[in-house]
Amino acid sequence: MISEKVNRIGASPTLKIAAKAKAMRAEGIDIIDLSVGEPDFPTPENVKAAGIRAIQQNFTKYTENEGTPALIKAVIARIKEDYGLDYSPAEVIVSSGAKSSLFHLIQALVDEGEEVIIPSPYWVTYPQAVALAKGKPVILPTKEENGFLLTPEDLKAAINPSTKAVIINNPSNPTGAAYTRARLEALAEVVRGEDIYVIADEIYSKLIYDDFQFSTFVSLGEDIKKKTILISGVSKSYSMTGWRIGYALGPAEVIGGMAKIQSHSTSNASSISQQASLEALAGPQYEVTRMAAEFQRRRNYCLMRLHAVPNISCFKPQGAFYLFPNFSWYYDKEAGGIQIRNSYGMAYYLLKEARVAIVPGDSFGADDHIRLSYATSMENLEKGMDRIIEATARLKTPKKVRRVALQNAVTRVKKSVPVDSSVPLKMRDGLVAEMESHLTPENYYEWNANISGVVVQLRTNVSHLYDFWVENWYPAQLEADLEPHGIIYAVDGIAGREPRAFYNSETKTGVLVNTDNYGPLRSLALGLVTDVGERSFGVLGVRGMSADIGGKGLILIGPPGTGKTELFFQLLGDNRFRLHSSDIVFVRPSGGQAPADCVERKLYLPTNTVELFPRLAALFDSSRCENVITHKEDCKDAECLRLDDCRLDRGSPFCYKASKEAHAMLDASWIGGKAAQTKRTALNWIFILRSDSVSPAAVRLQKEEALRILEAGESAGAKKSLSAARPQPYYNPHLLFTTEDRLELEKVFFGRLLDCASCYLFNSGVAGAAEIKAIVLGETQV
Ligand code: PMP
Repeated sequence: MISEKVNRIGASPTLKIAAKAKAMRAEGIDIIDLSVGEPDFPTPENVKAAGIRAIQQNFTKYTENEGTPALIKAVIARIKEDYGLDYSPAEVIVSSGAKSSLFHLIQALVDEGEEVIIPSPYWVTYPQAVALAKGKPVILPTKEENGFLLTPEDLKAAINPSTKAVIINNPSNPTGAAYTRARLEALAEVVRGEDIYVIADEIYSKLIYDDFQFSTFVSLGEDIKKKTILISGVSKSYSMTGWRIGYALGPAEVIGGMAKIQSHSTSNASSISQQASLEALAGPQYEVTRMAAEFQRRRNYCLMRLHAVPNISCFKPQGAFYLFPNFSWYYDKEAGGIQIRNSYGMAYYLLKEARVAIVPGDSFGADDHIRLSYATSMENLEKGMDRIIEATARLKTPKKVRRVALQNAVTRVKKSVPVDSSVPLKMRDGLVAEMESHLTPENYYEWNANISGVVVQLRTNVSHLYDFWVENWYPAQLEADLEPHGIIYAVDGIAGREPRAFYNSETKTGVLVNTDNYGPLRSLALGLVTDVGERSFGVLGVRGMSADIGGKGLILIGPPGTGKTELFFQLLGDNRFRLHSSDIVFVRPSGGQAPADCVERKLYLPTNTVELFPRLAALFDSSRCENVITHKEDCKDAECLRLDDCRLDRGSPFCYKASKEAHAMLDASWIGGKAAQTKRTALNWIFILRSDSVSPAAVRLQKEEALRILEAGESAGAKKSLSAARPQPYYNPHLLFTTEDRLELEKVFFGRLLDCASCYLFNSGVAGAAEIKAIVLGETQV
């Protein structure tokens, strides 16, 4: 398991989007990438030549940890020339990119729990870098009407004794906003009175437009300079992103701390890149001016195009190379069935429909916006803007507000609960009395289910359990003088008790305490019915997924991890197979026949089955559901989250795939009509599943061997993580108790079943539905 702190952060969104755009391009889709965070200009020739010279002169070894003295001198000289400020070498460090300087700086400054103030919209890395230092990012939202600038009032109000630093990114990624000297003075005035550092990220300081006068924070006075760490680098100004050189200037004590950390992380930045950067900083500067002039032209063009789009606003940046328009007016609109709900939805829509990659504003802490980079050719910008405008124009208010009324119950308990299945009679009586005392006439629901001829009465105070119970089973009409075969109490809201199930076999009483989830109730009912059925009715419960072909049935039995569900739905994809049961069948083997019943009126299916059988989604929409995820924060699908490809972001009000704990009560006949389903079949084939890469596809088992495997109920080559699970006799988790005489009884019944059906040990690791069909169709003429 990786650490909690790393688990909580996502990879850089720009990297993810770039990867997606690249993958689409590889598929032949012509994507315009406006997500890039680097100039499209080549590194200047003189700079490249300096790098090559470094190699030729064998300048290819470790350098001084903090950077070569020559480069440090060049950094100092550049600051002197640009701002007239003096720094000593001990106040400078060169790192592998400004990002590395920033990371080391935050590690050096911030102790666990200390706060760093970050105005939003912010560059994506700031909060994550603070979180990785176990500090607390304090996000201070700025307003578009204030030019996305931090105000002295807001800064002052956010500072407290835990505040360690504030980050001021000038000009800003993603907004392009820059601070005038007067604005900076006002912030400096607040800082003066406080014991905090200022982290001034000025990496875009050379990319300034119109006649805006850039001022560095460190120029605001000697006292401010002592509290400020200036972060900059050559990546953006000299089009050197891949060379990885950044630097920091600040108090010697802080720089010394950073140097210690750097000596244990990256050591010195690349020797070759340092030589090239020396040329960049000390050599002629006209390439920078040329690049800035070109960016200004592109910014003007994009702004002009964006202003023509109805209902969006866009701040006019004074620096950097991004635009940060507000697209929120479009967030409830839709086109081609895609409804936009947020900036991720917008990004997804533009990627799919406009073939333009942009970055969702939410990654910068401003969901109303999207970020466009104009660091790409004018030709690309023209095409990209055309596409964005065209796709945006297609977004319309949904005609009918499509209210998807998912019937979804959210339960407190999400999965199985511990079961105490050997409750003595006295304890059973005590439990029943306790349950009865909590069932008042106003909150009491009762219903008799007919489960394979066994009548089970539910007594509950949970309306959701009652709803699912009624939906799940066929009804059992009770004559006035007839008693049910078994009773289950499901009572919620009992103070001081943990969620738990109890069972007393003597009286066929089940008790479910403080469990509002249907799964445990259904399992308890099936356990009770199996117990009664075996002893009193000669019925055997067989756990597995069953299908019918021409009146003969097959059942797939096996532990989790053997691909049972996948195989099952593959088989059902062939319309000669009819669905019988998705979880358990009840069989009455006699006279060479094994008639098997599906006893559930509706199937309690995990909704993530949509992954194997996408057609189910539309059916679940109209089913009663339990614990379907409706908020991204509740999603448990790590893979999906990692891919950043969430259907909740893309406009869907819920996701069936997001949780293993979500279920739907599905009417099986909805899958393919009444003809594609049957309640009864005669079991003819039993497939016990295993999954490995070496065993043969199918081995026909003799009765004794089959009984041995079934009784042991071991994982038989299931995935490693699951094979450690406890063996499950007869692969049936609904058995409730497995005393010796019980297992003996199961063995007798299974023996009878095996007299009627052929049994195979089937390896789903090497074979699939085709091999099952070959066996089944080879033996049956249909
Ligand atoms: N700060 C800001 C605001 C940035 O946008 C970036 C790059 N996207 C950096 C720092 C890091 O630059 P470098 O490539 O030097 O690590």
